[in-house]
Amino acid sequence: MIATLDHARALDTADPFAERRDQFTLPDDIIYLDGNSLGALPKATIAAQQDAVTRQWGTDLIRSWNNNDWIGAPQRIGAKIAPLIGAKPHEVLVTDSVSVNLFKLIIAATQLQSDRRQILTEPGNFPTDLYTANGAAGLLAEHVIQTEQAGDLADALGPETALMMLTHVHYKTGERHDMEPLTTAAHEAGALTLWDLSHSAGAIPVDLNASGVDFAVGCGYKYLNGGPGAPAFLFIREDLQERVRSPLSGWMGHAAPFEFRDDYVPAPGISRFLCGTPPVLSLLGLESGLSLFHDIDMTAVATKSAALFDLFVARVTERCGVHGLELITPSEAARRGSHISYRHPNSWPISQALIERGVIGDFRAPDILRFGLTPLYLSFEDIWRAVEILGEILDSEIWREERFAEAALVT
Ligand SMILES: *Cc1c(COP(=O)(O)O)cnc(C)c1O
Repeated sequence: MIATLDHARALDTADPFAERRDQFTLPDDIIYLDGNSLGALPKATIAAQQDAVTRQWGTDLIRSWNNNDWIGAPQRIGAKIAPLIGAKPHEVLVTDSVSVNLFKLIIAATQLQSDRRQILTEPGNFPTDLYTANGAAGLLAEHVIQTEQAGDLADALGPETALMMLTHVHYKTGERHDMEPLTTAAHEAGALTLWDLSHSAGAIPVDLNASGVDFAVGCGYKYLNGGPGAPAFLFIREDLQERVRSPLSGWMGHAAPFEFRDDYVPAPGISRFLCGTPPVLSLLGLESGLSLFHDIDMTAVATKSAALFDLFVARVTERCGVHGLELITPSEAARRGSHISYRHPNSWPISQALIERGVIGDFRAPDILRFGLTPLYLSFEDIWRAVEILGEILDSEIWREERFAEAALVT
């Protein structure tokens, strides 16, 4: 590919999502390559939050639980996520954070497997997944966490494996696991599966039902554009729902919370995985973020993501080839998610110099430059310009200036 600016503009002319950018509030002087970490603000969310605060909270007050269906929001919004991940509407619930949902589902899944003691995952999984599994294992009887490199996971499955817990798309490398064969292998070994879709939902096509997945979790504030700290979602396969219990048996997951009984009776279906009163404003922020997906074909999203990636790689090779950036994301589209990562020894100051020039990507320790390629609001010209700026920063070595070395609390 010859990655000229004209070529990028020609790709924009043919882009079916070109008009979508107008549905987001993005500053003109920013190229936003961090939608994999915090999605951009949809314009619809400004009006929806205004309504949620002034009318629903301000005027309707507590009546909103019924009149504005606040009480039904976790299930209603879950049903809107379902088509993006190949689930049935009643198999998805919006609640809590990814971390809390992991904890609930790890405990629930292992309790179905009382004679097995092993939770299988991989080293380098997202930290909260590993930490939560360790915390859960500490509460269970004699459970052990076993970590195996990606290629060895299927072989590591055995009669002791209670649960295989994996993140579908790796947060650093962007590498994607093959969900269906791994799930099938787990089932053949008698294990259950829990997939973390934080970097998949809204980024690439996912088909949980076709893959036979048992449990899943995912993030609301990344590709789903739900807003900072938006609640997460969880998925439980239909036929398992009546068999599992949440270890956080709060009143919102009770069959009849407003009967205020002393004894706990789990709600039917997935609602039993609610715990306490939900953050209603954040829930409604996620709902308006999701409204941008209601008419979206995820295959077309993935096609554009792949084309953005190809342009990025071609342009980096041409423009920055001498600067030692090492691509660590698989170049085959089916083997990755929707971000691109390079390794470079000076990734931190380079990421800071990029931000100063309006190109917002991020840094992942110890040496990774990561760029989210979100098809709904990025143009091919954005990609071309971002790499041009990266090239200028590398050529000039401006990143060596002292102000870029300063550490930050959040990277
Ligand atoms: C972003 C992300 C999370 C986030 O967890 P929170 O509890 O929402 O902070 C968890 N797992 C993975 C794989 C992620 O990428």
